Amino acid sequence: MFRPASDAVNRRNGTTRRADGYHARMTSPNGTLYVGNGPWCTLGDGPPGSRRGADMNDPGTREGWAVLSRNGVIAAAGAPDVLRTAHPDAHVVDLGDRLVTPGLVDPHTHPVFHGTREDEFEMRNLGRTYVDIALSGGGIRKSVRLLRAADDAVLARNVAENADAFLRLGTTTIEAKSGYGLSLEDELRSLRAIRDVAAWHPLTFVPTFLGAHEFPDEWRDRRDAWVDHLIDDMLPRVAAEKLAVACDVFCEAHVFTIAQSRRLLLAAKKLGLATKVHADEITPCGGAELAAEVGAASADHLVHVSDAGMDAMAAAGTVPILLPATSWYLRLAKDAPGDVMKRKGLPIALATDFNPGSSPTRSLPLVMSMACVRYGFTAAEALTAVTVNAACAIGLGDRVGRLVPGYACDLVAWDLPNLRSLPYRFGENHVATVVKSGRVVVERGR
Ligand SMILES: [Zn+2]
Repeated sequence: MFRPASDAVNRRNGTTRRADGYHARMTSPNGTLYVGNGPWCTLGDGPPGSRRGADMNDPGTREGWAVLSRNGVIAAAGAPDVLRTAHPDAHVVDLGDRLVTPGLVDPHTHPVFHGTREDEFEMRNLGRTYVDIALSGGGIRKSVRLLRAADDAVLARNVAENADAFLRLGTTTIEAKSGYGLSLEDELRSLRAIRDVAAWHPLTFVPTFLGAHEFPDEWRDRRDAWVDHLIDDMLPRVAAEKLAVACDVFCEAHVFTIAQSRRLLLAAKKLGLATKVHADEITPCGGAELAAEVGAASADHLVHVSDAGMDAMAAAGTVPILLPATSWYLRLAKDAPGDVMKRKGLPIALATDFNPGSSPTRSLPLVMSMACVRYGFTAAEALTAVTVNAACAIGLGDRVGRLVPGYACDLVAWDLPNLRSLPYRFGENHVATVVKSGRVVVERGR
């Protein structure tokens, strides 16, 4: 797990730029009291920090609850009548008898790109494989060509549109990777697009540098030299401009080897960045073991993770982030062993892996449904994986993902009667109201 090194303020617009991410300006003049009679899953019981085993199954539900928001942060929580009496001047927003949860946290997304790849979706469904398409110039390499041709304004507009969609689906914080630029300038442009949108958009972004997403066409015959370029030229610029808080690598048979990945991650650590690994997605190659060895914050995908890899992650405190929508969408024959990880007591998180090729969805509720079906999760376990554990995977475990005093006032009211209905009623958007940093930002799905 990683912690912020220092805070800095972007004086141009008053937005707080923390080393652990971007936080939009928070305004809340007299305090707002959010109240409801329905089930509130507060995730408020027990200590902060990631949850494992039976603790993942405790959503901290209260029947009828209220939180007072001041300056975007929860200042008090309790029974509605108690808080109404204690804070008679607060502005009251009544969420009725709806299910209320913390705003969801998506700890693995690729939101900076241009263009789409629906042609490849159809090719895969007709029998071609992801790796086959990638090796013939499609896949990530196609998105790289499209991003390089798009100007800065287009990239920022795309990021903002994606951010809007995340909010409408109940997600209030995302980890956001670069990785479709794959040149110094285009990777910097991608990360600056995240920074610039984060400066005004309500969604919280935690930026990650993923220059090691693929080998760009012009470096394909000089693979070690590309890793040198990442380490010697790109990482130092990213760190100097404080454009990312973490460094990720696509460690896989057809892309970055274990040795190349290790070299890059150790260099990132030296610069103070947290580390993450796209590990064991398509073939078993020891990515989880590497993540544990370097003390990575998370290892992601893990479809082919070994038993030893899971044990190493548990010992190292590396959070497994599972991406069931990607496995399903790529028609992989195997699922990540979410059920085994649960039994082993790993602090599992779930993410969309939102990207234009292998998972073009921004819906965490859909991912929760898939985790319930494929890994045997309960609704409570799935919710823990997209709140508390997801927040811990991106270094925000002490400020988002729970409805308790001191945490950001990020919450979602769902047009649903109880938590079990959330993964049960899959494929529809049940969001009624989204509150981000104490302000209503989505109402009736808009
Ligand atoms: Zn990914």
